[in-house]
Amino acid sequence: SNAKPAHKRILLKLSGEALMGDDQFGINRATIERMVSEIGEVTKVGVQVAVVIGGGNIFRGVAGGSVGMDRATADYMGMLATVMNALALADAMDKQGMTARVMSAIAIEQVVEPYVRPKALQYLEEGKVVVFAAGTGNPFFTTDTAAALRGAEIGAEVVLKATKVDGVYTADPMKDSTATRYDKLAFDEAISRNLGIMDATAFALCRDQKLPIRVFSIVKPGALKRVVMGEDEGTLVYA
Ligand code: UDP
Repeated sequence: SNAKPAHKRILLKLSGEALMGDDQFGINRATIERMVSEIGEVTKVGVQVAVVIGGGNIFRGVAGGSVGMDRATADYMGMLATVMNALALADAMDKQGMTARVMSAIAIEQVVEPYVRPKALQYLEEGKVVVFAAGTGNPFFTTDTAAALRGAEIGAEVVLKATKVDGVYTADPMKDSTATRYDKLAFDEAISRNLGIMDATAFALCRDQKLPIRVFSIVKPGALKRVVMGEDEGTLVYA
């Protein structure tokens, strides 16, 4: 079809879990390949794609193996986990004929290049997929906050938050069968109804910068492409 994409530049937030598939932890090969091919479909229609990848599938600083650890140390481990995911993503993109660049918020110069904003913008203009690794580079933050921050920095039109649920619901759809999905929702309403879409820091940043967030399901095949083509998918949280 000759339909035009709804966005020119997007920031896709993928949680570490999105690479896990049905496994208990780590990176599932088939899952990462599918994720990357979905991203490829979007680049093919000329949309510039930046990805912020999480690390929860490998390490979560506030839980599990980090119990009793110094919080900042655990968080740095979490950030390093995102670097591993970013390398795996970029490698899978390469294998599928895409060009990816990993940029890290923490200097690991033998492995990945550092995040430099003008360079990221240049790569995006060149049609390369930029994978932002190491979150914000700071402990006590999350990759959701990194997604809001980088999204604002690169002038993304929207933050696409890929989750296991296909949008924002009035209540937890797993617990409440009467829960209904919002098509659209204002930031203010999301706050007053206490709908936990992202962590508070990330959410506040998006709200202040008037950077809309679309929450959609990564489990549904083709959902990313439909979102980018402006089809009704998931929930849009707007200013
Ligand atoms: N993290 C951090 N600062 C950041 C981003 C991430 O300290 O800016 C750490 C934090 O410990 C977090 C872990 O990295 O638990 C993995 O990130 P996140 O939980 O956001 O990953 P996701 O849930 O998206 O897989």
